[in-house]
Amino acid sequence: MEKIQMKVPLVEMDGDEMTRVLWKMIKEELLLPFVDLKTEYYDLGLLHRNETEDQVTVDAALAAKRLGVAVKCATITPNEQRMQEYPQLTKMWPSPNGTIRAILDGTVFRVPIKVDSIPPVVHRWEKPITIARHAHGDIYRCVDARTEHRCTAKLLFENESATKSVTIQQVEGPAIWMGMYNTEQSIRSFADACFSYAIDTRQDLWFATKDTIAKQYDGAFKRIFEEEYRTRYEEQFKALGITYFYTLIDDAATRVIRSRGGFIWACKNYDGDVMSDMISAAFGSLAMMTSVLVSPDGTMEYEAAHGTVTRHYYRYLQGEETSTNPLATLFAWTGALRKRGQLDQILELEEFAEDLEQCALDTLRSGIVTKDLVELSENKSCTAVTSA
Ligand code: NAP
Ligand code: MG
Repeated sequence: MEKIQMKVPLVEMDGDEMTRVLWKMIKEELLLPFVDLKTEYYDLGLLHRNETEDQVTVDAALAAKRLGVAVKCATITPNEQRMQEYPQLTKMWPSPNGTIRAILDGTVFRVPIKVDSIPPVVHRWEKPITIARHAHGDIYRCVDARTEHRCTAKLLFENESATKSVTIQQVEGPAIWMGMYNTEQSIRSFADACFSYAIDTRQDLWFATKDTIAKQYDGAFKRIFEEEYRTRYEEQFKALGITYFYTLIDDAATRVIRSRGGFIWACKNYDGDVMSDMISAAFGSLAMMTSVLVSPDGTMEYEAAHGTVTRHYYRYLQGEETSTNPLATLFAWTGALRKRGQLDQILELEEFAEDLEQCALDTLRSGIVTKDLVELSENKSCTAVTSA
């Protein structure tokens, strides 16, 4: 077979521990024999981030912005314990995902990988439900306080030329308070990422807030999504036969459970935090969940939703057998290759990505699975295989 030729390179961000081991295997055994793989390689392994004073992370993010599509391996975010494990670290470097997200200004979409033999807890869900979480502001950047005595709390807005205050409440005894914010610019880029992703994946988009209660706050989210939809995306949605659906968050919660799946659920920051964990648990396992960062300029960065699987890596280093699920990492690669195929009009590359995913799913269906899936699988004759 002749290798499939690529035109524009993918940005490849290598990572740490067990996922770095799987990364190499996926490339060497599943991709390189079939694709003339072109990548711009950045080693985001912890030690190389340390050697470059984390410049490599910034360079990788800028390369993603320039080339449009990236694939990232899971990476260690150092903490106190890692500082002891790696004494050569000169600093507790920040989360690479945080750095990349800040540069790409993106929204994170979490996408479950669905297999028939591993039924979701909600049996009606025939297709995956993708959560799009707005990862900026609200309670994650709030100021909260507790007061003991009778008082009146006000919001005070000031700039060089004016002040304005709004009374929140007068209380007679001990009380708790919270102040939080978001910016219209951030909400607008969140909306754009959601609409673009819906178009890209040809799925309906749902969005829900509590605008009946928080008329200004959630009302702004509703209004901005509506404005972006009407002015920029409605025609494309109609042409593709997909819909934008807005409702209240409690109504959405009941509709999601009764749905057949197959749509994107855009959530405000807190809703997305809670709902993405609920949805991933209901679909089975973190090892069966991919994640894609979509920036308003269309840059896409694909990765697994899980971490570097440290516990397995330590066993691997001891020469013990491990059974680490490679699906989410493999699907990060196929997602990125498919996107490159679409952008560069290389049909063979799109088909290759599709075929590779189907082969992986067929393998699971046939009962050849990693340990984490044995319990979840309906196929009782399935066998757990090792990573290597
Ligand atoms: P983790 O790597 O996701 O692993 C937690 C546990 O989940 C594992 O011990 C394993 O359970 C199970 N698991 C996760 N992925 C699996 C897979 N592919 N196959 C089979 N089982 C899997 O989370 P962590 O141990 O909390 O974090 C480890 C490191 O990853 C940390 O240094 C953290 O900073 C980093 N991290 C990176 C990212 C990222 O780059 N996106 C995200 C999260 C965490 P069992 O041990 O029970 O088998
Ligand atoms: Mg959460």
